[in-house]
Amino acid sequence: MSRAQTPKATTALCGIVLHPAGHTRSPAMHGAAFRTAGIDATYLAFDVPPNSLAAAIAGARALGIRQLAVSLPHKEAVMRHLDSVDPVARRIGAVNTVTLREGKLEGSNTDWYGAVRALERETRLDAARAVVLGAGGTARAVVHGLRERGARVTVLNRTRERADALADELGAEAGGPLTALGDTAHDVLVNTTSVGLDGDASPVPADAIDPEAVVMDAVYEPERTRLLRDAEARGARTVTGKWMLVYQAAEQFQLWTGKEAPVEAMAAAFDAAGEA
Ligand code: NAP
Repeated sequence: MSRAQTPKATTALCGIVLHPAGHTRSPAMHGAAFRTAGIDATYLAFDVPPNSLAAAIAGARALGIRQLAVSLPHKEAVMRHLDSVDPVARRIGAVNTVTLREGKLEGSNTDWYGAVRALERETRLDAARAVVLGAGGTARAVVHGLRERGARVTVLNRTRERADALADELGAEAGGPLTALGDTAHDVLVNTTSVGLDGDASPVPADAIDPEAVVMDAVYEPERTRLLRDAEARGARTVTGKWMLVYQAAEQFQLWTGKEAPVEAMAAAFDAAGEA
């Protein structure tokens, strides 16, 4: 809190609901964005267990909280408590952003945008051959984003049936098991499984990664996951999950304030929060 300004009667409140709260870096990132852009707002993390979600959203509504980021495990459950959910979030099946507009709570999804903007730091996506590892909520957002940008997408997952179903539903070309990566051409590879989050593991063997590919991991804690280190050792270019997180937060900032987000300040705050 050392660099935070003292709240005033008019200071807007934003925050993130998640469980467990752990050490989320969202307050640091959004706080830095508010300071840099000169916006009178403060941002807090709310540890909300699933059985308190309805009360938390009702509380947010009553208190006039201006924007809430929604993280695990609430991204699907939150939808039924909102006044509206935009068509993209509905298609993805998950809301990660709730914005108060004229007294109404509007749900949207910025994860897909975060993923494509992060990848676009390194490569164009139109007509790219992309492979998405995983078939959970994050995979749905990433597949939507890649399709939106014109990439051809294959979904590979431990439970193959989930990959097939997701591919079918969101317009990817094919689904398959994780073991199919070595036989699947890829200019872009994105891990959306949770492998790498706990323990130094990768969802795919290093020798299945195309050295010409751009590889991104949605896992951002640790930042340099085993997959990314394997990819670098193969000569591939990499994008860390930090950039997906920063750009999805930047889009949230834009949605609420209508202003372009100070992305570099947010990324620097992410880094500093990791060192704290
Ligand atoms: P989820 O819905 O629970 O999906 C988890 C996925 O991981 C499933 O496809 C699951 O496969 C797979 N998986 C789990 N354990 C595995 C294992 N041991 N081997 C192979 N596959 C395994 O999770 P999610 O919400 O999509 O989140 C996934 C990750 O994305 C999390 O680490 C989260 O932190 C990260 N994320 C990052 C950002 C960002 O901005 N950087 C944003 C959102 C999420 P099965 O179908 O076979 O179970």
